[in-house]
Amino acid sequence: MEVKSDQLMNYNSLPEYLKDNEFILDYYRPEWPLKKTILSIFSIHNETLNVWTHLIGFFIFLFLTIATAVMIPREDHETIYTLIRIEELSSSNNNTIINTSSLMMSMISPMLTKPIITRWPFFAFLFGAMLCLLTSSLCHLLISHSEKMAYIMLRLDYTGIASLIVTSFYPPVFYCFICDPFFLNLYMSFITIFGVATVIVSLLPVFQTAQFRNVRAALFFSMGVSGVVPIMHKLIVFGDRPEAVLSVWYELLMGMFYGLGVIVYAARVPERWIPGRFDLVGHSHQLFHLLVLAGAYTHYLAGLVYLRWRDVHGC
Ligand SMILES: [Zn+2]
Repeated sequence: MEVKSDQLMNYNSLPEYLKDNEFILDYYRPEWPLKKTILSIFSIHNETLNVWTHLIGFFIFLFLTIATAVMIPREDHETIYTLIRIEELSSSNNNTIINTSSLMMSMISPMLTKPIITRWPFFAFLFGAMLCLLTSSLCHLLISHSEKMAYIMLRLDYTGIASLIVTSFYPPVFYCFICDPFFLNLYMSFITIFGVATVIVSLLPVFQTAQFRNVRAALFFSMGVSGVVPIMHKLIVFGDRPEAVLSVWYELLMGMFYGLGVIVYAARVPERWIPGRFDLVGHSHQLFHLLVLAGAYTHYLAGLVYLRWRDVHGC
């Protein structure tokens, strides 16, 4: 089917590969030239809000990443180095000033024995969230350009979703089991291998067929749901710690947002009830995007709880 128009079209005029939701009746951009497709980020069509909800989400997470990097204390090598120098001097000199410094050193040194808790798992999650939001936004903007573009964009989108799911495991697993290398390595390697395998499966052309679509959905679903295991484990081991309990509440809320998102996405409501009424504003995919944002932000808040827990109490 040769459809080459730069006008918005209705559902029935679409090429087969773009027929995704029969309850969205109009305002499609099938096979526009690439430049016009890119510039359509500033015009009104049925993907405008899908693009912008996750693009704004990307900038929110970029801001959170910068804010977190600026606000949280970092390793202060300078201070440690200075204190070591003072100690060296005090051992080679006997004057009063150096002895005072030595006394200070003996008071401060217990604080330095506490290991500095690394931030990389938290930043890995923030990076995963940004990657997911950006690839999703790009996918919605460009998918309608051509069949080849749709093929590439959908795979980019799957990779982004997998990266969000995998990196969402890193802060809870790392900070909960930081003192237990066996479970730390077990959970971290399990979810990383699971995620990489899911991406590979999603990239294989054979899994595009309708018959394997459910397999792909099941893989993403089980990857997300497998997070229940480390959360239950955390509750059993650290059930008496307020940080562990508070983070579980955040994780439940996150599960609720993501779960509701998947239900809305699959049920295609509200457009199913009044086809055509929600073409531009309010259809299921836009609600799904907002629920994903809410879920990811809730997980960010849980991450802050973990950081505080380990910064104060260490191992
Ligand atoms: Zn989307």
